[in-house]
Amino acid sequence: SKKLGEAGARLEEWGVKFEALSSELCARASVVVVSPGVSYFTPELEAARAAGVPVWGEVELAARELQGPIVGITGSNGKTTTTALTGHLFAEAGVAAQVGGNIGLPVTEMIASSRPDQWNILELSSFQLATAESLHCRVAAVLNITENHLDWHRSFEHYYSSKQRIVRNQNAEDVLVWRLEAGLEAIAESTPAMRRGFHPTKPSPHGAWQLFGTIYADGEPLLETKDLQLAGKHNWENVMAAAQIGLAAGLSRGAIARGAASFRPVEHRLEFVREVKGVRYYNDSKATTPAAALMAIAAIAGPLWVILGGKDKGLDFTPLRAALSGRTRAVLLVGQDAPKIAAALQGAVPLVEAGTVDAAVRYANERAQAGETVLLAPGCTSWDQFKNFEERGRLFKKTVEELGG
Ligand code: ADP
Repeated sequence: SKKLGEAGARLEEWGVKFEALSSELCARASVVVVSPGVSYFTPELEAARAAGVPVWGEVELAARELQGPIVGITGSNGKTTTTALTGHLFAEAGVAAQVGGNIGLPVTEMIASSRPDQWNILELSSFQLATAESLHCRVAAVLNITENHLDWHRSFEHYYSSKQRIVRNQNAEDVLVWRLEAGLEAIAESTPAMRRGFHPTKPSPHGAWQLFGTIYADGEPLLETKDLQLAGKHNWENVMAAAQIGLAAGLSRGAIARGAASFRPVEHRLEFVREVKGVRYYNDSKATTPAAALMAIAAIAGPLWVILGGKDKGLDFTPLRAALSGRTRAVLLVGQDAPKIAAALQGAVPLVEAGTVDAAVRYANERAQAGETVLLAPGCTSWDQFKNFEERGRLFKKTVEELGG
């Protein structure tokens, strides 16, 4: 209880007893409530399940008490952006909603303010869904599923089936929003809910898609991508998903179009910072893998300066060669694993050893010409030089704000 500080002291006051964690303890509990960081396969949790003891996560605990319809949003990528955007669309339409879950506010903290006539828009991770039993999503959205978090889930099958739990308890009045792709058909086929799909290019009856810069939904033009502040085709998919959620919840097409246009990217996610002497600066500090960096590079047109590096996750940087070559003024390398990235990109692009994010910004500022872009998309974690990616992104922005011009 000491480790819990004030909360521990309060619980002791209330007569709550503390015991060291053991399989034996978990097996005789009435229920085990587990934090999302703890792997599903932890021996103590296995012992609880073997003894028939329910194992709940925080979302399951909250779902039992939460009032009002739920929008659940999951996927391997794009969850936070789509969740924040969906909340923004509801606000634009004047439809009461609160936003939480994996995006920040714990769902248990949404209970007190929940009401039968107010939507709950929840970002749900695979960890949170793995223990969901009674969660019932009026609208469930599955954005995409690619291999991720296999340390926690042990297998792709468990990761996939955890995400699939988002459609558990759905009925024929509910709606599933899903990316129209073969890999997600098993999920779509497992729910009686009405389906609203989306696809980067492929039209479908109740689908959303994009053609020559227009996003369509239900067969009609909905909005123009040039009006969006979100950059990149991956973000257009997030817009389509949020729009489909909005349509499922009865928001007007006009409110959806206006809300999508006025939505600013979530901080550190391909966030436009400022233009200095015609040079545009983007902060994508959240891009902590080469695949995410690649997405950011593809989202921006024209000549580029890219800041790459940090502490890498043991991933391969060679796929960046083709995306960078021919249009990159220089890759500015920072952080601990810069030499490894240099080896992977050698010969494809000019490389500069900048060392730190602020030095990289100043280097680019001295040399970049109007019409070019400086992009922080490190492809690595920040843990060698920063506490987290937020701190890295903030240093980038601060340095950009301080540039003259
Ligand atoms: P999540 O909450 O799932 O991590 P974010 O909205 O925070 O997703 O975006 C994280 C990163 O994932 C972005 O910087 C971008 O590189 C990538 N990304 C975002 N949306 C998509 C998408 N729809 N498809 C693929 N990648 C995406």
